[in-house]
Formats: sequence, C-alpha cells, structure tokens
Amino acid sequence: MFALNGIIANLAVIEFLVMVTGIRDPARRLTYKGTRGAVTDTIDVRKPDCYTCGCLCGQREEANVWRYLLPPLNEYDAI
Ligand SMILES: [Zn+2]
Repeated sequence: MFALNGIIANLAVIEFLVMVTGIRDPARRLTYKGTRGAVTDTIDVRKPDCYTCGCLCGQREEANVWRYLLPPLNEYDAI
C-alpha cells in the first residue's frame, strides 16, 4: 500500500514540476494500472461550458502557486 502511495505522489510531483517549470503542459489525468505497472494519460478535450475546464484549468499565473513557496514577509506572518 505504501508503494502505491509513493507512485501516486511521485506522479503528482512530476506533473507539478513540469507545470511550474513550463517543460510541457501537465497531464490532465493520469491513470496508474498497477496490474501492468503502467501509467496512461487521457486524451479528453476541455469543454468550455464546464466550470473546471473553463474556469479553473489554464490559470497558471492567476493561480499564483509561488505563494506557497515564498518566505513570510515578517515574523507575524510566520505564525
Ligand atoms: Zn471539465
């Protein structure tokens, strides 16, 4: 079970890093098939009338993921 958690966590970290660095677009959905030891990607297309596809996805700069990496501005923000 812990090996499965590690596989999934590593896939998530890799997709986060490719998104932040811009190496490539992150995979929208990955499926781990444990019986074959394979990871597959989806080829679904975004739907403009879907809230997740139309509003949340593709908001790289607006999402400001760097806010999780920046140090606190002063000692009071660290609390
Ligand atoms: Zn959608």
